[in-house]
Amino acid sequence: MPELPEVEVTRRGVAPYLEGQVVSGVVLRHTGLRWPFPAALSQTLAGRTIRSTGRRGKYLLIHFDHGTLIIHLGMSGHIRILPLDVPPQKHDHFDMTVGNQVLRLTDPRRFGAVLWHAAEEGTVDHHLLLRTLGVEPLESLFTAQWLYSQTRGRRSAIKQVLLAGDIVVGVGNIYASESLFRARINPKTPAHRISLQRYERLAQAIREILAAAIEQGGSTLKDFIGVNGQSGYFQQNYFVYARSGEPCRICNAPVRQIVQGQRSTFYCANCQK
Ligand code: ZN
Repeated sequence: MPELPEVEVTRRGVAPYLEGQVVSGVVLRHTGLRWPFPAALSQTLAGRTIRSTGRRGKYLLIHFDHGTLIIHLGMSGHIRILPLDVPPQKHDHFDMTVGNQVLRLTDPRRFGAVLWHAAEEGTVDHHLLLRTLGVEPLESLFTAQWLYSQTRGRRSAIKQVLLAGDIVVGVGNIYASESLFRARINPKTPAHRISLQRYERLAQAIREILAAAIEQGGSTLKDFIGVNGQSGYFQQNYFVYARSGEPCRICNAPVRQIVQGQRSTFYCANCQK
């Protein structure tokens, strides 16, 4: 599943092909993805100039003067920039033609989204899907003090609090396990019992791990462009994620796997207290 780093790398990859360019049309090859495509989207966008791109959590934002196109990659979606004459494949449900290229969204499972937020409804941060999101982990509002103050009343396990997304966005299943390992915090620890000092380690771990993933993904940028492009999901050298039973890279104890909120968590019981 695309996580925050994949979406940010996608944004950086497609931005040079979009920003300042005029949309000439939209092709929809399905009624919708998770939700129906916006009505008359081609009329809404044709002839309009893309001003900038952005990202909020795992939502890719394409800003126009009169509103914002919101794209989510769902479970299995990816975006490429292609020449106009590349024929669509089975799961290519959305094209936006920009200059002499096309932004193409491929989404086999159709859990993604393409939505329109008109400027007259206010800033896109007010969109139903965006307004409850927590702070961005790579921006200055995300601090240990923020994590600490927001978790004083939260008795759930820290792993699940991170995944909930209402305090900080974009720390998905992989990065939650990896960040808690790097901060040496047991994922089962109730969030309200973690000290400010330990949250300092966790905030730093989250920032470092996400930044490293984005940097690593940047080296695969070319994969977003061109006919043979791959999805750009990064295979990293994880410390604990998906390493159940394998030796901890620090202490050699076997990595444990548990289920929290129906999601697998990986950790080292020896290193993480
Ligand atoms: Zn260990």
